[in-house]
Order: sequence, then structure tokens, then C-alpha cells
Amino acid sequence: MSETRKWTGGCHCGRVRFEAELALDGLKICNCSYCQKRGSIMGFVPVSAFRLLSGKDEEKEYLFNKKKIHHTFCPECGIGSYSYGTTPSGASMVAINVRCLDGVDAAALTPTLFDGRSL
Ligand SMILES: [Zn+2]
Repeated sequence: MSETRKWTGGCHCGRVRFEAELALDGLKICNCSYCQKRGSIMGFVPVSAFRLLSGKDEEKEYLFNKKKIHHTFCPECGIGSYSYGTTPSGASMVAINVRCLDGVDAAALTPTLFDGRSL
């Protein structure tokens, strides 16, 4: 179990920067048609645990299927560092691509599968 702590992170070129409080537990790899290609490892946090520091006016969003999840990406470097939307219960959430957290050791993470393909 990892502890909840504040992380900073963002895209590759640095336009998109954020901070978020999360533990590196309960991480998910999603098998939906989009996530399979994007290859992110996601950690889910409530909106209150996420703060976008820069890039809000520049980042782009991609929506597909039910258009409920906003997949953001940097228009300069193309990295999708987080997505946001609402859970089935209606709560606002942010799905952080934990690969984009500063100093994270992605090889040490132990995500499990989220069956987004079946949604
Ligand atoms: Zn960028």
C-alpha cells in the first residue's frame, strides 16, 4: 500500500501542469478502444484532490462514445495527462495518467484491468 501524498505532474512539454493528492493504489489500465491505444495507467481522484496549475486555455479534449469522459491532451506535445468526467453515481472525478506524475517509477506500479470495453 502506498500513502496518499501530493504529486505534481503534467505533459511532456510543460504547458499542462497539475497537482493531485493520491495514493498509487487501485490503479487501472482500461481496455476500451481509446485507452488501449493511449496506454495510460490511471488513478482516480475526486475533483477536490486535483488542481490544474497551467494549460487550461491551451489543452484540447477528445470525447467519444457516450461523450461523458473528457480526455484532455496537450496540443503541443500530444500527451494526455488526465481525463475528467462523472462516475456512474454522478460524482465528479479526475482520472490521472499516473505515468505523468513527476518522479513516478511506472515500472513499479501494479495496475489492474478496468473493463471499459464492456461499458
Ligand atoms: Zn505538452
